Amino acid sequence: IDIPHRKVTKICCIGAGYVGGPTCAVIALKNTHIIVTIVDVNPTRIAAWNSDSLPIYEPGLDAVVKECRGRNLFFSTDVDKGILEADLIFVSVNTPTKTQGVGAGYAADLGYVEAATRRVAEVATGDKIVVEKSTVPCRTAQSMRVILEANSRPGIHFDILSNPEFLAEGTAISDLMCPDRVLIGSLDTPAGRSAAASLADVYAGWVPRNQIITMNLWSSELSKLAANAMLAQRISSINALSAICEATGADIDEVSYACGLDSRIGPKFLKASVGFGGSCFQKDILNLVYLSESLHLPEVAAYWKQVVEFNEHQKKRFLHRIITCLFNTLTAKKITLLGFAFKADTGDTRESPAITLAKYLRAERAHITIYDPQVTEDQIWLDLSEPGVVDDIESLKKQVTICNNKYEACEGADAVVVCTEWKEFKMQKDPADTRGMDWTRVYEKMKKPAFVFDGRLILDVHRMEEIGFQLESIGRPGKG
Ligand code: NAD
Repeated sequence: IDIPHRKVTKICCIGAGYVGGPTCAVIALKNTHIIVTIVDVNPTRIAAWNSDSLPIYEPGLDAVVKECRGRNLFFSTDVDKGILEADLIFVSVNTPTKTQGVGAGYAADLGYVEAATRRVAEVATGDKIVVEKSTVPCRTAQSMRVILEANSRPGIHFDILSNPEFLAEGTAISDLMCPDRVLIGSLDTPAGRSAAASLADVYAGWVPRNQIITMNLWSSELSKLAANAMLAQRISSINALSAICEATGADIDEVSYACGLDSRIGPKFLKASVGFGGSCFQKDILNLVYLSESLHLPEVAAYWKQVVEFNEHQKKRFLHRIITCLFNTLTAKKITLLGFAFKADTGDTRESPAITLAKYLRAERAHITIYDPQVTEDQIWLDLSEPGVVDDIESLKKQVTICNNKYEACEGADAVVVCTEWKEFKMQKDPADTRGMDWTRVYEKMKKPAFVFDGRLILDVHRMEEIGFQLESIGRPGKG
């Protein structure tokens, strides 16, 4: 970092999504001398970023955007102008799992990264630092280098850096403001080290220098996949133990607490649940599985694959428990899902366990009512419809109701299933607490026996039983 390097004055971020938007908004907030332009090929998304109703929900994001937008933060569909003017370009486009062809279901679809990289090569008229922000397989930077060098004007030099993003949705702004670390991977050459120093300066606008870590390009790329794989593995591990708890009388919260007190293990990310979701964990592990197979390491691939397979099993286990408790049939029963987002404090539903559960319940011919404070109705219909099935939306609407009031959603329900740990589903502290849930009111509205299935371990057994509920929680033996 203490080597001669260029000062960045203009940044362009290609991709105005869950990562590009918040990350570059915080960069603009903390570096008022840098002009930051976030570009995207999706005009609807850009229009939303330029409006009062941002395209994503994140606590604290509105305030950051309001402060910087029009000052040194801009959102635009003019990708070429953004590239042309910037000295540093983040590539923060989507890298979903391939759905067809070689590696379908495992490999990352790198088509968006390639398209963005080609655009940079074709448009650039001066030297650029190109930063991989997207999560990509190890050695993608090498492909980017070849594409850039083969398609650019003569004499233009590109430095490629890896700078994976570790923010979690729902806490994106606080994660960005106080990151555990910022990782910058570069080639171990004078040009590579100098580019890394330029990017480090941007983060040094608010991140302590000792938390900005520079390393080898390939280590940096792999660290992102590794971190997500290890986080998801912790969840599958605790979920696997939750099944033993249910069968033996142990309580998973107590087991997590006991394990978490060991300083080698630590308490975070040990909460049992109906399963992990989100756009990253499954995708990144599958990516790691594919990478391992491509490197002829089948045992390594099998090891990581089990983390994803157990996650699917956990959702099925939960469904079986619901069926068993409800007297082995769900036909025409009213099941209310509280929460549809993959976690609290986000409106994102990608890979949400609630989607899988709703699809399973639909197959059991239950009638499903869904309430979520942030997810839009359109998104829920989109998530539940089967692409290509004629009239699916019509039959879906006969079987699924979306409700915008949590109490109305529970009216006449045979069972309520907590799918997302929103604070507003926790038991209210006293009758004046409007942020929590009045579960007595819910009880009065439901069919009896009144079943509640807690897929997020947010409800207290004793208090719920006092009201009269039969509470069935993940990781605790039930009565059913
Ligand atoms: P996203 O789908 O929300 O956003 C990606 C955006 O890129 C889209 O708006 C899309 O229109 C745009 N785009 C695609 N190709 C483009 C092109 N050629 N030119 C201009 N715009 C283009 O995705 P995201 O959730 O922001 O994730 C982006 C990357 O960051 C992924 O690789 C993901 O794995 C990684 N990541 C995501 C998270 C997360 O929590 N969502 C966290 C860390 C890392």
